[in-house]
Amino acid sequence: SDQTFQNRLYEKDEKYMWHHLKPYQKEQKPMVIERANGAWITDIEGNSYLDGMSGLWCVNVGYGRDEMVEAATEQLYKMPFHPLMNSHVPGIQLSEKLNHWLKGNYRIFFSNSGSEANETAFKIARQYHHQNGEPGRYKFISRYRSYHGNTFGSLAATGQAQRKYRYEPLAPGFIHVHAPDEYRVPSGQTYEEWSLECAHMMEDTILWERPETVAGVIMEPMITGGGVLIPHPSYVKKVEEICKKYGILFINDEVICGFGRTGENFGYQHYGVEPDIVTMAKGITSGYLPLAATAVKQELYEPFKSEEESDHFRHVNTFGGHPAACNLAIKNLEIMEAEQLIDRSKKLGAKLREEIQPLEDHPNVGNIRQKGLLFGIELVKDKKTKEPASSEMVGEKVAQCKSKGLIISKNGDTVAGYSNTLTMAPPLSMTDDDATMIVRTLKEVFQE
Ligand code: PMP
Repeated sequence: SDQTFQNRLYEKDEKYMWHHLKPYQKEQKPMVIERANGAWITDIEGNSYLDGMSGLWCVNVGYGRDEMVEAATEQLYKMPFHPLMNSHVPGIQLSEKLNHWLKGNYRIFFSNSGSEANETAFKIARQYHHQNGEPGRYKFISRYRSYHGNTFGSLAATGQAQRKYRYEPLAPGFIHVHAPDEYRVPSGQTYEEWSLECAHMMEDTILWERPETVAGVIMEPMITGGGVLIPHPSYVKKVEEICKKYGILFINDEVICGFGRTGENFGYQHYGVEPDIVTMAKGITSGYLPLAATAVKQELYEPFKSEEESDHFRHVNTFGGHPAACNLAIKNLEIMEAEQLIDRSKKLGAKLREEIQPLEDHPNVGNIRQKGLLFGIELVKDKKTKEPASSEMVGEKVAQCKSKGLIISKNGDTVAGYSNTLTMAPPLSMTDDDATMIVRTLKEVFQE
């Protein structure tokens, strides 16, 4: 029977599966997701949930897009795989399309995951400086609370203690500075003043480290997984200026912010900056297949054109830019264009924000932050002291939402004491009814 089949699956899951991040807990059956459509996912027991996290910040166009499956299948029949030492049609077409989306002039190196895209960026940055006559530039500056990946380099760039301290030593040469947070501005300052002071402290750090040793600054335009921090507009521009002043490469991690999540093609486009390197993954295929990319300004490619083989970028990624994933990604971007999902993200995000804003009257809701369809709801024990809510309290809210059929997440750093932000990033394609369900559920949960 169905029930026996399901119970066997749970037993085998317990026995064989190593779930990401959380251990198997007997008292809490895992969600075994079997089907998905639109913004909704359904488990093997037939329970459906609105996926307010779009998978893991991926499924921007929603589930159940036959055209995307067809695009991948078509390519698999025609030519399933060839590595990018040579070239292939969907790779070429996608890199051109990405340039339109980036509104710049970039060369694209493909890989499979956000972590790899960032590793690639670090290696390109170091080698670029090497061949540009500044071999001493090897350090990277990133920000506390950021997440940049799970590999030794991208994890070194990450600014969350809980993810790092058991795996050290990580790659050396990564230095962290504070990211401004609109909710925790020192008293007597405006958010803009505090933001510019944080940028100034970043400049100080660069000077203490000596600029001639710094290869790049890497940041997400908006910190997402670390608690949804929306910068003051003047901050991002200031960081770019500082990078330019000292010949440091400005690297933007758009793994989550990219592809419409925040209401622009890419997050940096809110701030009138032009990053030297842009990394992307997740939303590039809406999660349907693995694919990632590192976009590098054309002029940075010059030193790699050398006649000397040893001056080439000595970096290969077997599956990077898989033809089926590239063909599917093109379709994904075409859907976003045809359905104007970037605009939808901006407008629906603003509308949702307005509707959930009254939650800030709740004694435990410290601050709501939002850009497009990226949301953070920071919970506190006490609004006067702003003492962060316990990770248990935040977890309880996540569980309450789930029991009402809405998947959201909690984010932050348990070691540093900030694991207190509810995060939400629903598919850009969700319906108006879906949006209404989200608002209703959040309101109910905070009335309980
Ligand atoms: N950068 C950011 C901002 C991310 O959120 C993530 C993943 N959550 C990564 C990089 C790493 O991506 P992946 O898990 O595909 O390696």
